[in-house]
Amino acid sequence: MSDEQLLDVKNLRTSFLTSGGVVSAVRGISFSVGHGEFIGIVGESGCGKSVTMLSIMRLLAGNASVKADSLFFDGRDLLKLSSKEIRKIHGSDIGMIFQDPMTSLDPLYTIGDQIMEPLKIHKKMTRREARRKAAEMLDMVGISSPGQRLDQYPHEFSGGMRQRAMIAIAMCCDPKLLIADEPTTALDVTIQAQILELMMEMKKKFSTATALITHDLGVIASSCSRVVVMYGGLIMEIGLSEDIFYRPLHPYTNGLLNSITRAGGKERGKLIPIPGSPPDLMNPPVGCPFTARCEYAMRICAEARPSSTYVSENHSAACWLLHAKASGMRSGIARHGR
Ligand code: SF4
Repeated sequence: MSDEQLLDVKNLRTSFLTSGGVVSAVRGISFSVGHGEFIGIVGESGCGKSVTMLSIMRLLAGNASVKADSLFFDGRDLLKLSSKEIRKIHGSDIGMIFQDPMTSLDPLYTIGDQIMEPLKIHKKMTRREARRKAAEMLDMVGISSPGQRLDQYPHEFSGGMRQRAMIAIAMCCDPKLLIADEPTTALDVTIQAQILELMMEMKKKFSTATALITHDLGVIASSCSRVVVMYGGLIMEIGLSEDIFYRPLHPYTNGLLNSITRAGGKERGKLIPIPGSPPDLMNPPVGCPFTARCEYAMRICAEARPSSTYVSENHSAACWLLHAKASGMRSGIARHGR
């Protein structure tokens, strides 16, 4: 593993045993997150982006099977750690924020207690020290009168304030990696922008690497330096933000970008579904998962899965159009693309 990478994932596969059969939710993906990097993982619902992060955190239900060639975080192989060791990492080295803070916050405990808990467990702080730090954290995430707010319960906070409190909890132990799973989806547009700005501020202040999982390319555009595009349990494209937005290689990425452009106005930033539906991961396609929806699909696309082709050090995509013999077809994407 490169010393520069905080998280290094190689060939991750996650499946679920259900009453209807085995669902292959993540089907062999590799990516990394550097120290202090802000990476976006984007794709439609069911593409495997949340399952990927929950697999890394070993937070999936008992019917899940997680396999990988390697899964290194900060020099440790997560696959070899015991449940107890993994629990130590949660909330200390890796912080998490989810879409709906109400499902993550415990309604029976005050906000203060919920910030103080990880400080007492992971940082071995006394109650007094933890309370002081908790007030500091609430202040840092922009909650006024933090001393009084500590004694309030989640239902006394607005949606935006609850998400700020979640950020305070996630950041209080100074994690190396923050995983944010659709953190702004449940909030209105103005609050979304404020929460995103706060996350970027936190990243700058603490140099915390951040993995932002979202279906919203608009969110990615303003925050992430690198983007992973997922579809059908696979990575379709990885590149620097400017590669993805200005030089997309994959027809799926291109479809997502065009959808945003067409949407405009109020809908800007939301994914307008590309015609057709994602593949059934109980019977995943043998070839490229995007075949049924792709205007460039060729016979080989349904027959064999394309491997990733690098066009530069940081930019790759898994598409047969990048094969040397398909160069004529590629110029078609460029013409129809952005
Ligand atoms: Fe389309 Fe084929 Fe490329 Fe898949 S591999 S995106 S089906 S052209």
